[in-house]
Amino acid sequence: MKFLLAFFVVFTSVTTVYAQKTEPAIQRIDPTNWWVGMKNPNVQLMVYGNNAGMLNYTINYPGVKLAKTSKVENPNYAFLDLIIAPSTKPGTLKVVGKLGNQIITRLYQLKARTKEAKGTGVTSADLIYLLMPDRFANGDTTNDKFATMADPLADRKSPYLRHGGDFKGIINNLDYLQELGVTALWLTPVIENDELLKQEGPQRMQAGYHGYHFTDHYKVDPRFGGTEGYIQFAKAVHQRGMKLVQDAVYNHISDDHWFYKDLPAKDWLNNWPAYTGSSHKEQALYDEYSADADRKLLLGGWFTSFLPDLNQRNSFLAKYLIQHAIWSTEMFSLDAWRIDTYKYNDQAFMNDCNKALLTEYPSIHLFGESTASRPLGLSYFVKNNVGFPFKSNLPGTLDFPLNYAILDGLKQNFGWDDGVNRVYQTLAEDAVYADPMKMVTSLDNHDMDRYLSVIGNDFDKYKIGVTWLLTTRGIPSWYYGTEILMKNFRDPSDAEVRQDFPGGFAGDKDNKFTASGRNKKENEAFNYVKVLANYRKNTPALHSGKLMQYVPQNGTYVYFRYNAAKTIMIATNTTDKELSLNTARYTERLKGFIGARDVINNKRLSDLSAIAIPAKTVLVLELMK
Ligand code: CA
Repeated sequence: MKFLLAFFVVFTSVTTVYAQKTEPAIQRIDPTNWWVGMKNPNVQLMVYGNNAGMLNYTINYPGVKLAKTSKVENPNYAFLDLIIAPSTKPGTLKVVGKLGNQIITRLYQLKARTKEAKGTGVTSADLIYLLMPDRFANGDTTNDKFATMADPLADRKSPYLRHGGDFKGIINNLDYLQELGVTALWLTPVIENDELLKQEGPQRMQAGYHGYHFTDHYKVDPRFGGTEGYIQFAKAVHQRGMKLVQDAVYNHISDDHWFYKDLPAKDWLNNWPAYTGSSHKEQALYDEYSADADRKLLLGGWFTSFLPDLNQRNSFLAKYLIQHAIWSTEMFSLDAWRIDTYKYNDQAFMNDCNKALLTEYPSIHLFGESTASRPLGLSYFVKNNVGFPFKSNLPGTLDFPLNYAILDGLKQNFGWDDGVNRVYQTLAEDAVYADPMKMVTSLDNHDMDRYLSVIGNDFDKYKIGVTWLLTTRGIPSWYYGTEILMKNFRDPSDAEVRQDFPGGFAGDKDNKFTASGRNKKENEAFNYVKVLANYRKNTPALHSGKLMQYVPQNGTYVYFRYNAAKTIMIATNTTDKELSLNTARYTERLKGFIGARDVINNKRLSDLSAIAIPAKTVLVLELMK
């Protein structure tokens, strides 16, 4: 007994010293699981833990080959390249790491792929609804805050703190969204943002309620319902035949991200001697007269001081990000990706990432966020028809030039280059894009002043812009609340345009998810969008039909959407006076039609030779033979 005790004391004291210095451990493996039967048989596991990079690894599982183990600067990381043969059965494999006589084993799941459709894509037949889960509806008050998280607060009175919205809240309101005519949902990122409140300048505070500050790629934020909640949410959306778009952030992470605290390598980030912000000037990439220094500043400069900028030229990091995109698509049966801050990413990396997703899921839609004011500049960041030496393979992009043009078209008086000519001229430059139908159009979003405020709370203009969005080319996206006339400017903070949807939270005075909770004007707006969105949903000529637009004259703007089955005429009078539109110049499209149905007012027109259009009005006319 004495002998045994003495031995035990000696043994434990030795191992304690060893543990402090070199005892290896495997704390986590990313991706957190993988699947058998993927088109790409390769996957690279990032193994993390104390001195995980010192271990010698083996994997013994039928069909799985450990092709290579790579070590990096930081001994706490190892990267294991696996090849998974097509015949491999799903199951749990053992990742075994050895150092001397120590053996560390970690179980790793190779799952069977689920039968749910994945990567089905969104198309111009869809209407995408963009919402911020924290601010839409709270369906579960037990997940509003967690004392264990870096930001343990939830307070609806604070614009910067969590308000409690979650997946359950969205599920509770899917009827509302479907009634409106919505077919796809785009949520601002749902990945864990477990971080402290950040100070951005003297006025603005920043926190991750919006989701763009990732702290762990492989966790869905528990305040939205966590990973299991997101799986259930995706199922609920798909069961209704709706689609799910996830918001990707490849450019940066939060400075509270777990791997920022122990980076695999110095070049995991774009480093500068002192904090250096991005120039945000995308011209540096496509301008044939640009300087290397300007390109470096755009791509390598940080978005803010608290968002470390990822260096996607590091091949391990590039794989990490690409595999996370594949993992998410597979795990949650995603239909499409919106890609945040697209223009700030290494563009060769983006092509690799897009290619990997398109190879695994050929129908998936990918659209980037590259704020650019002109079609030529934007076309650099999407598959295009212009002779840039660099060729992007991104299928679609958010169409900022058309968004700005629509707003100008409503704000400005008619002129040679002004007013509705801005819309006409912007669409006239569509030749720069390989497929303009894959562009995602909008009136506003979570980073912009709200649409109604921009157009001076003018309800006539509101209806005109809505009509253009829902009848012109592309995939329309809609920002939550614009249908119930939510308004505001971003000043003093973005939170002003991200207010809670009234009725989504316990104690709300009105419930604007219901007709009885909306006032007369709000119901008029909701019904206007509903009529047009549902008409659009059931009218293929408005999804995939051709577009023909006529040169605007005297404040009028006329265009047609048409296919073999149907022709729709959209005629706008942007002036303050009623006018009678002489249609002689539209014969090319009107020939053979003798009347029309006014889709919005549900009236018949029996004479198409002259069409009366009231002041500041747009007509949507389905032509009849
Ligand atoms: Ca909640």
